[in-house]
Amino acid sequence: MLTKILTQGPIPRVEIARRTGLSQAAVTKAVAPLIETGFVTDQAAPADGDGQLGIGRPVSPLTVVPSSVSVIGVKVTPTSLIGVTTDFTAGILNVRHDELDSTDPEAVIEQLAGHVKALIAALKSGTAVAGPLAGIGIAVSGDVDAAHGVVRDSPLMGWRGVPVAELLGKLVRVPIVVSNDVRALTVAEHWFGAGVNADSFAVVTIGSGIGCGLYVNGEVVSGAYGVSGELGHLPLAPGDLVCTCGRRGCVETVASSDAILTRTRETTGQADLDLAGAIKLAHEGNAHAREAFDRAGEVIGAALAAMVNLVGPELVMIAGEGVAEYDLYEERMRLAFAEHAFGAAGDCRLMLRSHTFDDWARGAAATVIRSYVRGEPPLERGA
Ligand SMILES: [Zn+2]
Repeated sequence: MLTKILTQGPIPRVEIARRTGLSQAAVTKAVAPLIETGFVTDQAAPADGDGQLGIGRPVSPLTVVPSSVSVIGVKVTPTSLIGVTTDFTAGILNVRHDELDSTDPEAVIEQLAGHVKALIAALKSGTAVAGPLAGIGIAVSGDVDAAHGVVRDSPLMGWRGVPVAELLGKLVRVPIVVSNDVRALTVAEHWFGAGVNADSFAVVTIGSGIGCGLYVNGEVVSGAYGVSGELGHLPLAPGDLVCTCGRRGCVETVASSDAILTRTRETTGQADLDLAGAIKLAHEGNAHAREAFDRAGEVIGAALAAMVNLVGPELVMIAGEGVAEYDLYEERMRLAFAEHAFGAAGDCRLMLRSHTFDDWARGAAATVIRSYVRGEPPLERGA
């Protein structure tokens, strides 16, 4: 019930009844405690200078009270911590970016604790009304065991078997949710973004890694073992290059931003080129740089087709930091996609979503909101 109001509100009681198949009386009964505890309201906010709230006015559709809950979300990258505080509707209240001193797990957790405490302080001193803190969401790339809050294998971070929830829980006494970063972004798109009204969709991220979050049959797919949608490690590239994961032939060996840069350095002979330089060369029409992006686009297009052929989503959002250079990938990507997509699977809508790093952190916050609304037991409340 709260999920419906949160993701589809403002929504009249009669509409909830229609969408859930419950009677209107049952809806009214279920909503009453949510209104009583302040999570939900059926009163329109008074206009400026308007005195009495609600008295003698018609009842408005149900909406969630954003300030009834606050949440923290942090995206951990190899170089920085990007954190946000949000309200109950994932509206961002505060933003904080901290550079990481190292990727050593214990050092990162210690910095993470400081980062989170600073965000809590920002919440308390902020001008916006902030509700009680429901929890902290941490998003990390790679194989994440969300049920136990453990990062099992993150090649980008160089982490194996890091019990993030347990370690952070010793330093911060708040419930913690740890997720794969792309899956967290997918939760945010499902609950608060472009995926709200889609029956099925995929979020494909391109950039330092190639990731994919899937929403099918009413759920963001986690996989039986916590791994799913690892588009970047499909063996669709030539087998001559070794991936960050240690395997050969992964999509990322050709399509990650590092792979594109390495290729451009090799073919142009400019060993000190950086990614911005490679992008500039490609935009200037340098054939070697263009070829590196073409190869990437081709493999990404094949990976997209493989995913669409397997899952058949109605919508695919292309996201990640690589979308800034989407013009350099697009043509080859679309060609390869059209070539390999089977039948009507290729009818899915491709939509470009330019997320900022703050949006990724907001995804981490959305995982906490989801867990809170569903009443899932917290992983760690701290020692
Ligand atoms: Zn790989």
